Amino acid sequence: MTAGVESNAMRVGVDRVAIVEENGTFKHVGTIDTIVITNASLSIPAFIRATVVVIEAKVIALHDLDIRSSYAPDLQATGTGTDNLVMASLGMELKVNYVSGHVKIGEIIARAVTLATKDAIIKCRGGNRTYKTRIYHVSFHEALGSASLFFYGCNFKCKGCLRRVYMYDCHLNDFPKTGRLRFLTINELMEILKKIKSKTVVFEGWEPTLDPMLAKIADSIRCNGMRTVLLTNGYLYPPTSSFDEIKVSIKAFSRQVHVYYTGKSNKRVLENFKSIYENAPKKLSAETVLIPNLVDIDEIVRIAKFISSVNPAIHLRIDGYWPVVPNTPWRAPTREEVISAVIRARRYLENVQYLSSDIKVIGRVYSLWPIE
Ligand code: SF4
Repeated sequence: MTAGVESNAMRVGVDRVAIVEENGTFKHVGTIDTIVITNASLSIPAFIRATVVVIEAKVIALHDLDIRSSYAPDLQATGTGTDNLVMASLGMELKVNYVSGHVKIGEIIARAVTLATKDAIIKCRGGNRTYKTRIYHVSFHEALGSASLFFYGCNFKCKGCLRRVYMYDCHLNDFPKTGRLRFLTINELMEILKKIKSKTVVFEGWEPTLDPMLAKIADSIRCNGMRTVLLTNGYLYPPTSSFDEIKVSIKAFSRQVHVYYTGKSNKRVLENFKSIYENAPKKLSAETVLIPNLVDIDEIVRIAKFISSVNPAIHLRIDGYWPVVPNTPWRAPTREEVISAVIRARRYLENVQYLSSDIKVIGRVYSLWPIE
């Protein structure tokens, strides 16, 4: 597999044509060459169907790595203009007449092509450590000895999302003046983190699991002796082995409330929560937000019951809603309401804490990135 996408990535059929063959001569451009060799015996129709699977799998790799068209960076690339594919069958005993995403051999080919394409693109770009992450902001909480990484973008659209108002850590003493976001490479991030004596690195922001480099970032940080803590909405399954602690924010237990508030069903969140517990029981905890007249105390109790059905020893933190987004109808809960939610949740869970919006942050909080 070779994969150069720097100058030639495009959205096929949308971007204008830039290369014309003239007497057999082409410009030198990046390209994705894929060779698939299977030991199964594929019929001619199976070969033709398999090309569809390979092309779809390659597009997934480009999508996961957020490769943009070189001609129109707003658009997701679907390949380069010069991609090639060679497929070969070793013709062993297993006869295959049909290949698609619905059959096992299609699944195997797709996984292999997506993995190899991503690997080739990353290597072609100089390896993981020079690949741009989605991290646009790093803050440091001096009293806690803890750095926070802010990842851009989210797969939810929560109506009361703090990031709609505060792009940067809301606890900063001084907000960065720069209006333009610049994303860090893993190398740049590690340089920043090594300069401070951070014990813990918290992955938050919007939603860290959208970053295809998440595991690589977390592994690099752990290799340097720092604890990694992931805050996630739980919609995508996280790389559990790369984190010391995983805190899933359960916005609501009732599907309608969840869909109304976030724009997405919570089915995957609840399923992922159970799966994370099965794979990494000691790392998992939960948090939720008490929003009067939306995620009220009864709703918090439903969340507590769900967590208890997984394991009553799982920690839950209840935050009081902070009404910072304009034109939203909800108020902050009183301290008494938060405590009342905690008391009710403790009927089902052994460890319930709370964070009320009137609790003050101790110590200096400053931006490590951006610094201007
Ligand atoms: S999941 Fe978090 S970051 Fe994403 S929209 Fe909701 S509150 Fe904002």
